[in-house]
Parts: sequence; C-alpha cells; structure tokens
Amino acid sequence: TCGFVAIVGRPNVGKSTLMNRILGQKISITSRRPQTTRHQVMGIKTVDDTQFIYVDTPGMHIMSKDRNKAINRFMNQAATQALRDVDCVVFIIDRTRWTDEDQAVLKRLEHVKAPVILAVNKVDRLQDKGDLLPWLADVGARREFAAVVPISAKHGTQVETLEEEVAKHL
Ligand code: GDP
Ligand code: MG
Repeated sequence: TCGFVAIVGRPNVGKSTLMNRILGQKISITSRRPQTTRHQVMGIKTVDDTQFIYVDTPGMHIMSKDRNKAINRFMNQAATQALRDVDCVVFIIDRTRWTDEDQAVLKRLEHVKAPVILAVNKVDRLQDKGDLLPWLADVGARREFAAVVPISAKHGTQVETLEEEVAKHL
C-alpha cells in the first residue's frame, strides 16, 4: 500500500520538525521564522510494504489582510489542493494554545473527507501535564478527529504512536 499524508497547521507549530523526525533526515526546513517553507516539501518513508508520502503544507494560515497578495494567494491554493486527494491529514497545534490561525486552519479542513488526526505538539514544554486532559476535550469538541495524540516532534515523544495512527488509514 501507499498513501498521502498531509501535515497541516499554522506557522511555528512544528510541521517541519515533525516531518524531519518522521523521515529521519533534514529534508524540511525548520526555523523560528514563520513561513520558511515556501514550497511544499514531500518525503517518502517506506515501512515494510507500506509507503507513506508525507507532505508538509505551507500557507494554510494566510487569512489576514495580506491574503490577496499574489504569493499568499498562490500558497493558499497550493495548500487547499494538497488536501484534496490525501488519505490522511495530521493537524498540528501547539500544546494548550489555540489561536485564530488554528481556527482558520480547522475551517479549511471542514470539507476534507480524509480522516484528520490531531497532534498536540510541544508537550515537552507543558509546565503541568494535567492541563492537557481538559484541553483535549475542548479541542476534541471542535470537530471529529480520527485520533488525538500528544507529541513532542523535537524530542520524538509519541511520534511512533502518531505514525501508527496514520498507518490505520492508508
Ligand atoms: P512549522 O512552521 O510548523 O514548520 O514549525 P517548525 O517545525 O519550523 O518549528 C517551529 C519552532 O518550534 C522551531 O524553533 C522548533 O524547534 C520548535 N519546535 C518544534 N517542535 C517542537 C517540540 O516538540 N518541542 C519544542 N519545545 N519545540 C518544538
Ligand atoms: Mg515549516
């Protein structure tokens, strides 16, 4: 089997870091600066007889006054296109933070038919892990997720669990 997996989320949530972690090499650019990834970055990982084609999707977030600038329009379109034919979407958020940009990304996912897995990233930076449970209930109510997995892309925590959840949908 083989399948496409889109990684989506607002800037800085850790999409590129996750991609690098999963693929085990620095193929996607990471940086503190938002929008470092101008182009779609793809990576293929083969596990046994399954090929995972991961797509790091930039430009999902652009909803501001700048959204009609040519470059941003282009990126928005590319982002939307990328979601049309995927088998699974990994929607990343940053711990217990929720912003308008996260909401905008979630809105983009409204018409996506593929299962969406919520990855709650940067849990290594949570002061109190106990904050996570009520939060997960809160976000879980915003849409139906195929799974919810707290992770640390940077440290690799629970990333395999996330990959196993993805594999269920290919
Ligand atoms: P992107 O814009 O969504 O692609 O985000 P990046 O992957 O470029 O990450 C943005 C910043 O968050 C970088 O400084 C990363 O090192 C940091 N980061 C990503 N994942 C984690 C994580 O699990 N824990 C911590 N503490 N930092 C992270
Ligand atoms: Mg990136």
